[in-house]
Amino acid sequence: MKLTFAGAAGTVTGSCFHLEAGGRQLLVDCGMFQGLPDLEERNYEPFPFDPKKVEWVFLTHGHLDHLGLIPRLVREGFRGKVASTVPTRDIAHIMLMDAARIQEEEGDDALYTWEDALAALDRFQVHLEYGEVLSLPGGIQAKFNDAGHILGAAFVELHVEGKTIVFSGDLGNRGKPLVEDPSYPPKADVLVLESTYGDRVHRPIEESIETLRQAIWETLSAGGNVIIPSFALERTQEVLYILFNLWRERKIPRCRIYLDSPLATHAIRIFERYTDRFPEPARRTFLKKRNPFDFELLEYTLTKRASKRIPSDEGGAIIIAGSGMCTGGRVLFHLRKNLPRPESSVVFVGFQAVGTLGRQILDGATQVEILGSIVPVRAKIWRIDGLSAHADQPILVDWALHADPEQVFLVHGEEPALSALSERLHRHGLSVHVPAWHETVEL
Ligand SMILES: [Zn+2]
Repeated sequence: MKLTFAGAAGTVTGSCFHLEAGGRQLLVDCGMFQGLPDLEERNYEPFPFDPKKVEWVFLTHGHLDHLGLIPRLVREGFRGKVASTVPTRDIAHIMLMDAARIQEEEGDDALYTWEDALAALDRFQVHLEYGEVLSLPGGIQAKFNDAGHILGAAFVELHVEGKTIVFSGDLGNRGKPLVEDPSYPPKADVLVLESTYGDRVHRPIEESIETLRQAIWETLSAGGNVIIPSFALERTQEVLYILFNLWRERKIPRCRIYLDSPLATHAIRIFERYTDRFPEPARRTFLKKRNPFDFELLEYTLTKRASKRIPSDEGGAIIIAGSGMCTGGRVLFHLRKNLPRPESSVVFVGFQAVGTLGRQILDGATQVEILGSIVPVRAKIWRIDGLSAHADQPILVDWALHADPEQVFLVHGEEPALSALSERLHRHGLSVHVPAWHETVEL
């Protein structure tokens, strides 16, 4: 049996693992590379396998760096089935249509078209609940379990040729308001483990909420705006839920909250379908017909016209806009107006990959380039880690020890996260390897 690391090897993006086993070929995820330009070039490189021969894609969750190349896979001949959870299928729909829209703007550099994205969605033919077992030809069994990362996210357990291989996908943090904690993996022979925050210990979520409250209070009192670059999936919904509670408890002043992200708005409509999957007390809150996604301070600015009406150069507003790493989207307009203002603030609530504008700001750049202009950074920059959708080092180590594998492959991380986690797992007696991009290993 052969495993090839077609992506997320030495990087956090481009998740794609190719397994050849029992005479069959399958993928776990088929994601897009994001971040530095030379990394994004990889999206154009030939796959290290023949897409026509792949029969299955097990999709862990709906983030672009896990599913963004499925339309290219289909374009290059993939005619198999994509298996996912039901919420992931719904999320895939909005994510792929949005990705196709962005690709079509690329002109000649487009990786795929709208038609390819639609054809890809036609391949989403198998929907699994957590714990359900799928038996495939070639004696392969697959099972999805709750990864606790975003709505519908799963880690994948494959039983093949007498071995258990676990792909963590993206593993969640604990104590998050809108997703359950990650389930534990079974005893595994091989573990392919993400390591996004392999070198970090998150602060507790309560502390993060308190920091957010403080940032809002300080900024609004000074007459500035709070800009929150936010990922459309999970993070935005979570931030709204937290703001709703802070408002109800009178812990933030009356202000306008703008959700300036069409993608996040579409995602909210999906989240509203699955509130019964939320942990307590969020589930109860929604049952009581109080809707943290629709309260008096909150305004959705779905259209461009509505977005332009946001008084971004005045003060007194919280503006949540994508993209989460400031690589594009409406947040750029709000940053251009607010970064030069010492009374405003930018609150980062999620991971910022190397090479992104978000990372530059977070790393203390005194000026940045936005939409062709040089913008000085005078706004106060806040970083909130505890809202992360990713497990930190203690959770990753605890999780890996539960699987107690013969071999760990560390993926989905940058240096120094990979080295730090590798060393830590090694100290616990596990055999760890950090694969190179396109490396193939015999299992
Ligand atoms: Zn993810």
